Amino acid sequence: MIAIMDYGLLRDRMVREQLVPRGISDKRVLRSFRGVERHEFVPPDLRGGAYEDHPLPLGEGQTISQPYMVALMTQCLALKGGERVLEIGTGSGYQTAILATLSKEVFSVERVKGLAKKAESTLARLGYDNIRIKVDDGTLGWRENAPYEAIIVTAGSPKIPETYIAQLETGGRLVIPVGTAFSQILTLVEKKPDGAVISELCGCVFVPLVGKEGWKE
Ligand code: SAH
Repeated sequence: MIAIMDYGLLRDRMVREQLVPRGISDKRVLRSFRGVERHEFVPPDLRGGAYEDHPLPLGEGQTISQPYMVALMTQCLALKGGERVLEIGTGSGYQTAILATLSKEVFSVERVKGLAKKAESTLARLGYDNIRIKVDDGTLGWRENAPYEAIIVTAGSPKIPETYIAQLETGGRLVIPVGTAFSQILTLVEKKPDGAVISELCGCVFVPLVGKEGWKE
């Protein structure tokens, strides 16, 4: 017998069992997680586990984050639909796709060329047309298109790089894991007219943000 996975059912279960009970309540975010085909972004031999409650290896020593972590970071950005979003660490492109369903345009920077190319082709194949990806050191942001209403960093940083605050619109939000190379605190920065307001959300573990304003290679 050939077992055919009902990915739609698995996505619905992921939302009900992993996201809603842990406090993901933004209706648009939940709808996006029900729609975006996470199994298309994971290595083919790991597809069966694409909707499980943990991160997965992507190749090149990188990982696609646990669904809940992607949802939590996304919800923190409080996207309404009209934003231009900067993402650092394209990886598989899964988080990029989620952001693309919730905003006007996503600018995503990835330092590993092989990952960027793969993500770009997956996203194009699935029909996302409001995403731009570039291969570069994302610790410098993407100055040409700044300012952004939202910035999301999906690799762990030793500090909050000044570049991101500078490239954030006043009223905008930045979410970034800050800490050591092995564990971080998910940190939300809100840029207000009179300065940045920083809140620490929870512990997390991301691969290191490697670059000029991050960790050295
Ligand atoms: N959001 C991704 C997670 C990828 S893991 C996903 O859902 O699949 C973190 C990614 O950050 C890796 O792909 C890594 O190569 C990338 N990265 C690390 N340092 C970077 C930098 N300075 N600029 C851009 N990307 C970086």
